[in-house]
Amino acid sequence: MNIKFSDATAVGPWSFTAEERVPKNSMEKPLDILLVEDNLEDAELTVEAIRSNIPHQLTVLENGEKAILYLKKQGEYARSRTPDVVVLDLNLPRKNGFDVLREIKNDPRLKKMPVIVFTVADLKEEMLKPYGVRKEQYVKKSADYSQLIQAIKHVTQQPPKNQPEGNVYPLGLKSKIKILIVEDCREDVELIEEILLLKKKYEWQLTHVERLKEALQLLDGESFDVVVLDLNLPDSRGLETLKTIRKHKSRVPIVVMTGLQDDETGLEAVRNGAQDYLIKGQISAELFPRSLQYAMERAHLERVREELISYVNHELNNPLTVIKEGISQVAQGLLGEINDKQKGYLTKATLHINRLIRITDDLMDTTMLEFGKVVLKKETFNAVEVGKSALDSFRSFAANRGFDIRFASLGDEGTIFADKDRIQQILFNLLNNAFKYTEKGHIELSVRDKGHDIEFSVEDTGKGIPEENHEKIFKKFERLTPSKSSHAKGTGLGLFISRELVKLHAGRIWVESKVGEGSKFSFTIPKT
Ligand code: ADP
Repeated sequence: MNIKFSDATAVGPWSFTAEERVPKNSMEKPLDILLVEDNLEDAELTVEAIRSNIPHQLTVLENGEKAILYLKKQGEYARSRTPDVVVLDLNLPRKNGFDVLREIKNDPRLKKMPVIVFTVADLKEEMLKPYGVRKEQYVKKSADYSQLIQAIKHVTQQPPKNQPEGNVYPLGLKSKIKILIVEDCREDVELIEEILLLKKKYEWQLTHVERLKEALQLLDGESFDVVVLDLNLPDSRGLETLKTIRKHKSRVPIVVMTGLQDDETGLEAVRNGAQDYLIKGQISAELFPRSLQYAMERAHLERVREELISYVNHELNNPLTVIKEGISQVAQGLLGEINDKQKGYLTKATLHINRLIRITDDLMDTTMLEFGKVVLKKETFNAVEVGKSALDSFRSFAANRGFDIRFASLGDEGTIFADKDRIQQILFNLLNNAFKYTEKGHIELSVRDKGHDIEFSVEDTGKGIPEENHEKIFKKFERLTPSKSSHAKGTGLGLFISRELVKLHAGRIWVESKVGEGSKFSFTIPKT
């Protein structure tokens, strides 16, 4: 079967985009569909089926690598559109469908993207679950395309992709508020039921379970506007209860209930991702609905802030990388000879671009850490090797500036189970600071085995830090150095990010320093 795509544009060996013309008076918005399919005939049949059923704009790509570049708006796809739905074959060249699904799931900007797995393979529900793909998102390829069309309609009729799970709307907009109460004390539940009966202004729908396990099951299948959570349940105790729910559902607003005179636990819960807390015994008809409302609105604002930062980061970072690449090609003379003066300007431009990229990366990391969204990807590796390679990346810079750089370790032992990229990021931050705030002398990185922990230290002979600021510098945006001094430009986020990453590893970070003599930043990471 040969189909002519009148509006098709070739973007690869045979990848194309096809823009379906939507009838002028149609109220239906065309769906933006990305089809990832390596078999041209299958692709043509699928496009034809979609064409006759759904107003659409369609892009077809023939391998997994391109699909990821397209979705992440990278390389030749820097200006790609964000699709409403991805229809994904699994058996793909250059990155198979499962790899594509994994990358979509691991990217906070993409993980909400509706995907339909469209394959000849017979798949069990459990095989797709780890990728966040539900039963209705899997369609087995056959001559009958009606199931695919149905699935596309189904997933795109879900709440819009930017809308958070857990319906985080300001309360005023909702007609019915769905509450999940996780509480094993019957009297507390009855009290809440009475309060809700009194408050007729809103319509409530209360679901009650006693165990964490049941709550997780319910949250998997249904969406709730707010969860009211007792931390101490028969199958989970303390902050662990909250953390487990948060890990499971990152967005749903949570109001924690704590015991009498336990403000500290309540505050700790808020620091760990709850939106508000209520003290049992002090719950009143006034307080309870107000707390729920506050939690829902707070979750909504958190979401808006996170999305805004993620959007700004995305919209800045990709173009910056493209600009940097262009400048680098010109500076290297790849596009024709350039003189020293021109080269000087290009080098300066590159420095500024690198700084902007660092700022957007830092802002993104800070937001993700604050919202508890950074998940460590732990693996076993040799801490000494990672330390050496971090230092190596500064060698040519150190040689140019006349620094003596040293590495110290006790043997080559030091196997550690941690997130290697994140450990490298912390070391990079500390080494970068050491070079930034040191005029001359030496910089030493040491990796030592401390029994249960590995201790990393970065020592410099720089300007030092007054003792009263040793705590302060780990806070967000804290800078002791005036940003005017050109080589010491920074965001004030490096140490904050480092501290949060160390904390995520259940380690410790601190500084020892004397003004005029130098500083030593150290952190420990448990070996297992
Ligand atoms: P930035 O370096 O981007 O300003 P950081 O969070 O990495 O942000 O550091 C916070 C502040 O701590 C810096 O502005 C600087 O004043 C101080 N600081 C960090 N490392 C050192 C160091 N090795 N020597 C002296 N001061 C330092």
